[in-house]
Amino acid sequence: CGIFAYLNYRVPRTRKEIFVTLVKGLQRLEYRGYDSAGVAVDGSGKHDKDSICLFKKKGKVKALDEELYKNDSVNLDEEFDTHFGIAHTRWATHGEPSALNSHPHRSDKNNEFVVIHNGIITNYKELKKYLISKGYEFESDTDTEVIPKLIKYLYDNRESEYVSFSTLVERVIQQLEGAFALVFKSVHFPGEAVATRRGSPLLIGVRSQYELSTEEIPIQYNCGETVLDIQDKNSFNKGNSSNALHSVNDRMAMEFYFASDASAIIEHTNKVIYLEDDDIAAVAAGNLSLHRMSRGAGDDPVRVIQTLQ
Ligand code: GLU
Repeated sequence: CGIFAYLNYRVPRTRKEIFVTLVKGLQRLEYRGYDSAGVAVDGSGKHDKDSICLFKKKGKVKALDEELYKNDSVNLDEEFDTHFGIAHTRWATHGEPSALNSHPHRSDKNNEFVVIHNGIITNYKELKKYLISKGYEFESDTDTEVIPKLIKYLYDNRESEYVSFSTLVERVIQQLEGAFALVFKSVHFPGEAVATRRGSPLLIGVRSQYELSTEEIPIQYNCGETVLDIQDKNSFNKGNSSNALHSVNDRMAMEFYFASDASAIIEHTNKVIYLEDDDIAAVAAGNLSLHRMSRGAGDDPVRVIQTLQ
């Protein structure tokens, strides 16, 4: 029932600092109600560098928090220049409250793709049947689990080696019915994040370490083939790339926060973007891009950064 995720790009953070940020984010969302909680972070130590570690616990966020520090499979002092961590509190709709049913859910035993979800996927039975027929093994009773399996299926069957993370997510949500806010993390796209929503709330907080003005924050609005680069808050110029983006990039160090509710973001930044239905937001190399799932004519892709009071 609550989503929180944190991406630091060129902002060194220890694993402990990352855990603290994720857990604090979940605690700010506790009022929404939940029965279990979980996080996914980058692996290290005994794990491969590009692996993902999952921690899930039935009960209170506090119980998850204790679990994180008890765990000796991760080094709390390890520093990450760039890292993406996702966190979730669950209000069970399909499948009893348990560690296995709690989020993040994963594509496979290697945790290639992990996802957090708020909402209900109403056509999960059909998708599950299809994926089982393709050899995917399910481990939970949730509706959510079809999502990480589906993205892995699309990744494994991609036509070209260089498919983007956001393209895969767009193909996933084209198959989904129901309500969702989703955040994806993958070993195939280290340091990248993709978030999307339909029906359930999701917003993104943006913070620059160099006090960039709102006009300079590197955000692209993609609308079909056209890239609309943000020039100032209210007007958008068409073009394929923006010089402003490149000059910003050299000195860029960014932090991004994804949450169900502004109350989890406000302590970090007051620069936020509310996602609209079928928006797909992707962060890669510190750049945030927004794209509306194509449904045909009549799309209005323009979004502005808002300043919370
Ligand atoms: N329907 C999903 C589940 O039961 C997500 C519930 C939620 O929004 O927390 O796991």
